[in-house]
Amino acid sequence: MKKGNLFVISGPSGAGKSTVCKLVRKILRINVAVSATTRALRKGEVEGNEYHFLTKDDFENKIAKDEFLEYAKVHENYYGTLKSEVENKLANGENVILEIDVQGGIQIREIYPNAKLIFFKSPSLEDLEKRLRFRGTESEETVQLRLKNAKEELEIGKGYDETVINCRIEQACTDIVNLIEKYTREN
Ligand code: 5GP
Repeated sequence: MKKGNLFVISGPSGAGKSTVCKLVRKILRINVAVSATTRALRKGEVEGNEYHFLTKDDFENKIAKDEFLEYAKVHENYYGTLKSEVENKLANGENVILEIDVQGGIQIREIYPNAKLIFFKSPSLEDLEKRLRFRGTESEETVQLRLKNAKEELEIGKGYDETVINCRIEQACTDIVNLIEKYTREN
């Protein structure tokens, strides 16, 4: 049986990745893997929906049991992709999107050299700062930390296969859908 394709979408926090992934999922009915994290739930988030929210001990237990395809510390919390969210789906011929940071993206490329890495960013750092503040979910300290990390992510993102800029969310969504459809046709 033909295996599914794996897509990684990374980009600075606040660029609109989650929003665009939700839209893409609706249009393509594609799997978006639910990651595990040790960060606290934000208002409106539900366990198992945005993330599997784990304690640090539980997360480290899963690391020891080799349950992660990749994991990384991002903004001082653990985030990781569970093998159970990905491997069977790919084996069954289904496509899967991972919405993960650039450290995770680089690890995935090592494991799945055919994975398509898409870097999703806002038009400028000023624009990103506006979006992070507008979201209103982060303290000033966290906003500053995320902006600092964004600069490093932008550098690593230069090594990704594709870049999509979020000028308008609908257009950005169409761009990603087109990339996924094109890649799926070719493979
Ligand atoms: P947030 O806390 O804003 O939901 O996510 C923070 C960052 O962690 C984002 O860049 C997000 O893409 C990344 N992230 C989410 N899940 C994973 C994961 O499973 N692995 C890695 N490496 N990064 C992740």
